[in-house]
Amino acid sequence: MGNQRSAIVVGGGIIGATSAYALARRGWRVQLIDREAQAAQGASLGNGRQLSYSHTNALASPAILREIPRLVLGCDEAFKLRLKLDRAFLSWILQFLGNCTSAANRKNTLETLELADRSRAAMEQLLEQHPIEFERRQTGKLVLLRSQAELNAARASLEMKRLAGLVQAMLSYQEACFLEPALEQAREIFLGALYAPGDETGNCAEFARNLIALCEEQFGVEFHTLSRVIGVNRKCGRSVVVLDSGEERQADLVVMANGHAINQFLEPLGHRLPIQPMKGYSFTAPVGNWAPRVSVTDQRRRIVFTSLGDRVLVAGIAELGTSDTRVDQLRLQSVIAAARASLPEAAVYSEADSGWAGLRPMTPNSRPITCMLEPGIAVNAGHGMLGWTLAMGSAEKLCEVVESAT
Ligand SMILES: Cc1cc2nc3c(=O)[nH]c(=O)nc-3n(C[C@H](O)[C@H](O)[C@H](O)COP(=O)(O)OP(=O)(O)OC[C@H]3O[C@@H](n4cnc5c(N)ncnc54)[C@H](O)[C@@H]3O)c2cc1C
Repeated sequence: MGNQRSAIVVGGGIIGATSAYALARRGWRVQLIDREAQAAQGASLGNGRQLSYSHTNALASPAILREIPRLVLGCDEAFKLRLKLDRAFLSWILQFLGNCTSAANRKNTLETLELADRSRAAMEQLLEQHPIEFERRQTGKLVLLRSQAELNAARASLEMKRLAGLVQAMLSYQEACFLEPALEQAREIFLGALYAPGDETGNCAEFARNLIALCEEQFGVEFHTLSRVIGVNRKCGRSVVVLDSGEERQADLVVMANGHAINQFLEPLGHRLPIQPMKGYSFTAPVGNWAPRVSVTDQRRRIVFTSLGDRVLVAGIAELGTSDTRVDQLRLQSVIAAARASLPEAAVYSEADSGWAGLRPMTPNSRPITCMLEPGIAVNAGHGMLGWTLAMGSAEKLCEVVESAT
């Protein structure tokens, strides 16, 4: 006990929960701290639930670059770019534009694919040892392709990932409908679909809560809720976290895993990470006559359908330039309309719930930042659109960077 290394993980979302588990499993004495009354109340709460191990394509691409004028003018219901005169935001946008080349997109997509693969392996290992409940469904994932250009891009992406060892298949319209009969009800014809049989879904928030409970019971992790961190610093060779109660907690290591809010603590230390919130929405509705069992992504409309059994969850919208977490009714209605236009019989849309909005912690290259910032202070953040998918692998990577720094 005397020589046991100690860590404080700030943020009890999916990234903080998996970071705490990975450290505790390696013998660290861990305190996990969150400002809310329970875990996973931020972006990890109402997300699309996709364990999207194959669909790791970076957002910045030559295709999105061509769309930028439309996004800025607000012509795309599903993707909004609100420009604001903020240095950090504008610098993020410039870095994003710099990642819109084919070469950068390829690099970012493949590096994320590698991390996703690591996540899948770490998840399997965890579940073999501890059968955690989280509504896991091994459904596979279909990405609908509506135009020749989308088909060509998907073929290129498939080939790139095949060379990296990934199994995905290109299906014709008939093959996709055979696999998922609900697609026959699609209002607009699609030309084909990309199928990833190994992709899964699961309740991210339930997983985070159950993983933290396991950490408390089996690894002695202390989880402190309703504890808002207001500062992080170093004193006499120790890392210090200051809470809003005035209390200070010390450890050998502090891991900042508090999602999009991370920079407010790093700036006083002289650091700024390229992480911006990207707002998204989700809603659930009772299943309709033709609810998909396989996860379906409608790339054109930027929405995903996830089966929850007796309900269907739909997630979508990417909005850069706001950090307001309130559900804007107009935006929510636009996601419902997009889902209805895509698969009209998938859900009883008239009985949709009141919706949810969350902020994805987004980096310009769609790759998370997992590193030592300075001695005693590490970061695991910026998981963007794929935090649930990448959480387990990022936590492994965190331990690696921490170990190599000590
Ligand atoms: C609409 C939508 C759909 C998505 N769909 C998917 C999907 O299908 N698959 C996928 O892989 N990913 C998806 N994502 C992305 C994923 O949800 C995020 O990447 C992930 O949840 C980020 O986790 P996090 O732990 O970094 O952040 P969060 O979950 O936001 O956790 C941060 C935590 O830090 C705490 N915190 C913040 N500040 C403080 C403070 N000062 N003191 C103490 N605690 C603090 C917060 O309370 C919170 O619990 C989606 C996101 C959205 C918005």
